[in-house]
Amino acid sequence: MPIKLDKSDISIVVKCDQCAHWYGFALDDYEAWQVGARHQHLAHPGEYQAIRRLARIDYEQRHADTKPEKDKRRRR
Ligand SMILES: [Zn+2]
Repeated sequence: MPIKLDKSDISIVVKCDQCAHWYGFALDDYEAWQVGARHQHLAHPGEYQAIRRLARIDYEQRHADTKPEKDKRRRR
């Protein structure tokens, strides 16, 4: 898992296990994984850990809107 998030109360520092000199900065998890995915795409072609994580968050957000509980709330 080369991309790791170092979270504080106000921000997230994105780190790469393979690049001691590199770090990114983000304000939330989604942005942090975007920063990590971009780094992996540019510096580590063929590694997809951060890209997969981002895709999973996108998938969960898309399907969170289709859960029956939320549909019931909208009808009221
Ligand atoms: Zn790296």
